[in-house]
Amino acid sequence: METSPEVIATVIKKVFEELSAIEVPAVEPGDGLYPTVNDAVEAGLAAHKKLIGMSLERRKDIIASIRKAVLDANEELSAMAVEETHLGRYEDKVRENILCATRTPGVEDIEPRALSGDHGLMLLEYAPVGLIGALTPITNPTGTVINNSISMISAGNAVVFNAHPSAMKTSTSILKVIHKAIVDAGGPPGLVSSVREPSLETAKEVIEHPKINMLVATGGKPIVNIVLRSGKKAIGAGAGNPPALVDETATIRKAAQCITSGASINNGIFCTCEKVVIVVQEVADSLIKFMQETGRVYLLNPEEAERITRLVVTSEGKINPAYIGKNVQVILHDAGIEIGEEYRLAIIDAPADHPLVWLEQMMPVLPVVRVKDVNEGIEFAVKVEQGNRHTAIMHSNHVEHMTAFARAIQTTIFVKNGPSYAGIGLGGEGHTSFTIAGPTGEGLTSARTFTRQRRCTLVESFRII
Ligand code: NAD
Repeated sequence: METSPEVIATVIKKVFEELSAIEVPAVEPGDGLYPTVNDAVEAGLAAHKKLIGMSLERRKDIIASIRKAVLDANEELSAMAVEETHLGRYEDKVRENILCATRTPGVEDIEPRALSGDHGLMLLEYAPVGLIGALTPITNPTGTVINNSISMISAGNAVVFNAHPSAMKTSTSILKVIHKAIVDAGGPPGLVSSVREPSLETAKEVIEHPKINMLVATGGKPIVNIVLRSGKKAIGAGAGNPPALVDETATIRKAAQCITSGASINNGIFCTCEKVVIVVQEVADSLIKFMQETGRVYLLNPEEAERITRLVVTSEGKINPAYIGKNVQVILHDAGIEIGEEYRLAIIDAPADHPLVWLEQMMPVLPVVRVKDVNEGIEFAVKVEQGNRHTAIMHSNHVEHMTAFARAIQTTIFVKNGPSYAGIGLGGEGHTSFTIAGPTGEGLTSARTFTRQRRCTLVESFRII
């Protein structure tokens, strides 16, 4: 006996009703934090696959959502960073995050290039590398995560972060904000991920994990060397000791103002901050006088300078970490010197062999060294920079002097007549980066840095002119 179409339709309808009544538990997107490195890696791999299956428009939405979310959370996270790490200044952390959220290039950075000629068409595309392991520094626990996330995701990658353990709370908080922003914009969970409690051991696991395609280390020389020895493609953004050279042709008052602002931003913890001033003797007194006239610079007398040096440099000749990133009042107070809240920087009229000239102090105590002339200054600045290829600054109105210094020092960033931070896009042209790859040569990283180049050639067609 045949079943009538009406009966079949009724049965189908009933089955559908029953199926739709079954409650399917929603898959929780999570918060980007995982119990183990391996879990973070697996989540990252799955997310990367989903991302590259999505349209570029959707990727742009994800980036826009990240930018907005980190700006919304900026004040809370900046306060958290200072409270947790005891480094830097709240108002400068706020500026850092705005800079990273707004001046890190997005998807537009990986626009393909095309070339047509007698033999047809060549298309060059910037493809993702896949899953990236990123180690981030204590000095920029929010800025580096924001900047790296925008750059790496714009290029189609997923990223497993391993933050500095002493910035764990702030780094995992910013990661959660970014993760939520991605998911809210329809992006895949796990696109940014981290182990819940990053440590040096988990950093080692990230470095050695076979499914991580590329490593990015932002930190001191040792960690840069570790990732470079990993056998993987690695990008190293290392330490600097930026000299600021002032010659006799400079506009001295402006130079004094720029150096004061640049060296004291975030209490000197940016890797780009002026760490030593080298000034031609003829204008040295004026420079110091104008720095004092900013009302933000305290000139230590020789006896005070001696006390401060003993405080901030250990007997082994290393920087005392207790004073890194502290307010100048705190440092001077511990040496028995009381100054007003308006001060941002202490300076020392220092000899060339002063330890702070040669160490990356990362605090608002700045040595000023006098040299005979610009040539001696250039030679000395090159030694002080110690081959880091990081940042140098010059104040001069003499084109030949500026050219000679830039050629001699070979730094990734060379700022002329401005504060050091103009070189990372704060009051200067160009995009920002908080992973400045001097040692490996990529410079101020952006989305394109985290790609593989792929060429597609179409022979004898598509030349249309
Ligand atoms: P750091 O080298 O101590 O730490 C950086 C990262 O590497 C952290 O995540 C840390 O946990 C990890 N790490 C360090 N030693 C490790 C080891 N042995 N094994 C595994 N992981 C390890 O640096 P920091 O004190 O956090 O940051 C300050 C330094 O970073 C300064 O020297 C500064 O100049 C530099 N920095 C450079 C840039 C740049 O773009 N070039 C930007 C910011 C900071």
